[in-house]
Amino acid sequence: MTTLSTHAISDPIDVARVRADFPLLAREVHGKPLVYFDNANTAQKPAAVIEAVDDFYRRTNANVARAMHALGEEATNAYESARDAIARLLGAPSRNEIVLVSGTTQAINLVAYSHAMPRLGPGDTILVTQMEHHANIVPWQLVCARTGATLKVAPITPRGELIVERFVELLTPDVKLAAVTHVSNVLGTINPVAELGRECRRRGIPLLVDGSQAAPHLRLDVRALNCDFYAITGHKLFGPTGTGALWAKREHLEAMPPFFGGGEMIREVRFEGTTFADPPHRFEAGTPNIAGFVGLAAAIRYVEALGIERIAARERELLAYATAALREVPGLRIFGEAQDKAAVIAFLIDGVHAHDLATLLDHEGVAVRSGHHCAHPLMQFYGVPATLRASLAFYNTHEEIDRFVAAIGRVRTLLG
Ligand code: PMP
Repeated sequence: MTTLSTHAISDPIDVARVRADFPLLAREVHGKPLVYFDNANTAQKPAAVIEAVDDFYRRTNANVARAMHALGEEATNAYESARDAIARLLGAPSRNEIVLVSGTTQAINLVAYSHAMPRLGPGDTILVTQMEHHANIVPWQLVCARTGATLKVAPITPRGELIVERFVELLTPDVKLAAVTHVSNVLGTINPVAELGRECRRRGIPLLVDGSQAAPHLRLDVRALNCDFYAITGHKLFGPTGTGALWAKREHLEAMPPFFGGGEMIREVRFEGTTFADPPHRFEAGTPNIAGFVGLAAAIRYVEALGIERIAARERELLAYATAALREVPGLRIFGEAQDKAAVIAFLIDGVHAHDLATLLDHEGVAVRSGHHCAHPLMQFYGVPATLRASLAFYNTHEEIDRFVAAIGRVRTLLG
């Protein structure tokens, strides 16, 4: 199994060595070496993750939490190790505050239906921001439609930064919950969550943070972030799809009724009425994605061994290099120029349709995303239907950025 020794923070990442951990990065696309710049969409998986999943099915496979045999116990321990790994990653005070779910989308829906819906009524509001992913908009709209509550939207600047004073002004007594992304999946903006959390807490308003794009890139500590709920998704964190977690303060979880009913989440079932397990199992009905969580635990161990600060430093450097190179391209406009920004670059080129450019880049072996990035309201803010987006990970290289920018140059001449 692939292992990595722990490195000092100042020690830069050995990119050639790290790339060798990711088998997919070695493949070709359309006869060209792959340049994978769609990491914000889903990240590639190190061999350690692939092998952990493979090994689970080859050696351990059994259901969790119910089998009275060795395999069942091993499977349960392997699965539960993901809860420990996630608790470490998030700086959670207790592993029992970690609910294992299929991803951020399920985590936010769980909070929407189980925490928010019973508390909402006409006149109440939920505060979101202009830069949210649909996963942090639509669940709130659904519970608003059922309860008569409404959404309020905190504005951003054209550079793509949240206007913190406006956010704070909007924290009026009608707000029953605020829901904010930690890092924008389009703009790369890193929101000042600890500050927003302090303002929410002062007013007794719970804060949910969508950490999908933050967990792979930033050191996290949910206590220091002053939030109440923190949602992550495993597949952007170099783990398998269909894995993720909700961290919630214990007092919230204890007050939340179950969302899904079924096996594993009960204490006793009678036809006259059922009593429920304590959190987090109360929210984990049915057989989970066991192998997926075994893989996610391996992914978190991989990130820990590499060191999140070293990952962040490498990505900052790649972002600066790519941004400078793209700024040289005539007619190229970057969306999102926040002071504090992750390695995500959304852009358009005058007169060139985003999808055309993405298709031609694909033929050059360069994978970028083109579209609305599940952020229609953000596209509406900028008055564009779509953008391209290059999102980098620590395993990307300067040479790949050079190839990407050169390919844009060629394609621009072709389409311009
Ligand atoms: N929020 C943000 C900011 C995202 O980038 C994504 C994934 N694109 C999600 C939520 C949803 O994550 P998932 O589909 O894995 O649940």
